Amino acid sequence: MSIYGTVQVKDGKYRIKGDFHNITPNMPIRKADEGWRLVGVTNPRDMIYIHSYGGEAVFFESLSKGKIHASRCDNPDCEFKGSIFLPFRIHCPDCLGRNTVIDHTDICRNTARVHTFMVCERSGAFNTLDKPIKFVNVEFDGVCTILMSYLSIGEPRIGMRVIPIFRTISPTYTITDLSWVPEGTPAGDLPEGFTFG
Ligand SMILES: [Zn+2]
Repeated sequence: MSIYGTVQVKDGKYRIKGDFHNITPNMPIRKADEGWRLVGVTNPRDMIYIHSYGGEAVFFESLSKGKIHASRCDNPDCEFKGSIFLPFRIHCPDCLGRNTVIDHTDICRNTARVHTFMVCERSGAFNTLDKPIKFVNVEFDGVCTILMSYLSIGEPRIGMRVIPIFRTISPTYTITDLSWVPEGTPAGDLPEGFTFG
């Protein structure tokens, strides 16, 4: 049995099972150059955060299957009817209506370009991406938003054509399951666990 708590939803309710707060024993902090006198303790704590995706769940599920889902406002009364959002937005920011979920994989594959980028040599706690992290803002034909993601191979440049890749093998169901590579990258060069779809 896992030492970590797990969650399922049944009959419309979150059912949690197991431990969500784990305490491990303290360790003394001692001062080596003063006869190992006690100066403090470490307090290891392990906490599980339950992150509910709500209406965005379809987006993360689709990444694990090599698909990019966007959303579109189809409200006939909206001034900006037809707007397509990626990152996925549950609601239209202009009319607040519920958007339609659309499969946008082919348009992403055929039109994605680097709008701008930044390269980070350092990262915060719990970083799982290889450093330096090449963050790219990706733009697509017909999409009114810009997607923040990361380039897995090569050096980013503005206007560069990029192709989506997906962590379809052991997906994490987070945004890092989606990444990008330069157009023309051979399948054999992709990072472990990633495929073109
Ligand atoms: Zn709208």
